[in-house]
Amino acid sequence: AKGNGRNRFEYYSDALAGELRDQDRIESALRVALKHNFFSLVFMPMYDCQTLEIVGLEVLLRAENLQSDGIGPDRFIQIAEKTSLIKEIDLWVISNALERLVELQSATGFSGKLCINISGVELHNELFPAQVKALFNTYGVTPSSVEFEITETAFVVDDNKSRTILNELRALGISLALDDFGTGFTAFRQLINYPADCLKIDRSFVNDLFSANVARHKMVRIIEELAELYELRVVAEGVETQEQLDYLQQIGCDWVQGYFLSRPLPWPEMLSLMSNPDPV
Ligand code: C2E
Ligand code: CA
Ligand code: CA
Ligand code: CA
Repeated sequence: AKGNGRNRFEYYSDALAGELRDQDRIESALRVALKHNFFSLVFMPMYDCQTLEIVGLEVLLRAENLQSDGIGPDRFIQIAEKTSLIKEIDLWVISNALERLVELQSATGFSGKLCINISGVELHNELFPAQVKALFNTYGVTPSSVEFEITETAFVVDDNKSRTILNELRALGISLALDDFGTGFTAFRQLINYPADCLKIDRSFVNDLFSANVARHKMVRIIEELAELYELRVVAEGVETQEQLDYLQQIGCDWVQGYFLSRPLPWPEMLSLMSNPDPV
């Protein structure tokens, strides 16, 4: 006999059932968040790598009712992407971000870019460009003051529909950043096949800059050189030390962001930071 042990399948299906319960729970929490306004935005300053002036703000989503469970955007966005919820969430983020941008521009004269994360799901949503255009009209925002960040791993190799959607967004004047650049397997194909204005170096590469893993630490320079070659702006994220910042300045990175410079800030702190520039 097999003895008293449970077989592997039983363990596996228990784990799977648990995972599905988690997904259901997160999914309904997301519906609640949309309905009762438990979502909020925080803003992470992006700096000119040489002058350290604030030149952009990345918008990051928070869900109050999931945060208490320790579930962050990495996890809940992934689950939202399995349902149509993500489309509602993306539009919620864009509307609220544009509203804040208008307020920031009129309160402080902010002239930098607002960088908004967009799910890769929108690369297959033909309605998206028209919805985006309508929101820009509603808030009276100039599209060139906004950048959409789309993660590299969302791209399918050489897809005509995605290319059309990206071209439509770009035709509106929105700029496009390839987020987490270098983490997938299609980086080169993307550069060749899709329009882009900016490459965002994933923070895992910045993190490895002075590690013993030489193969990984060279990635930052490779991406910087690619960006140079293709005339794209390069942004390094996840800068946590002076040493990393010095290195990025040396190799000619354009923009930087990370805990060393600033954490993501809630709206009131963001507004007061931008209203009272550093007295240094
Ligand atoms: P991402 O777009 O790569 O965003 C960067 C993440 O790294 C953010 O985490 C940010 O807080 C964190 N980060 C930035 N600098 C540092 C640093 O110096 N050290 C460390 N340890 N972390 C740093 P967050 O806010 O948890 O977001 C995680 C991911 O969730 C984002 O990755 C993005 O893919 C997704 N996401 C966040 N907000 C939105 C949104 O509004 N819409 C969509 N579609 N996705 C979003
Ligand atoms: Ca991003
Ligand atoms: Ca990243
Ligand atoms: Ca450069």
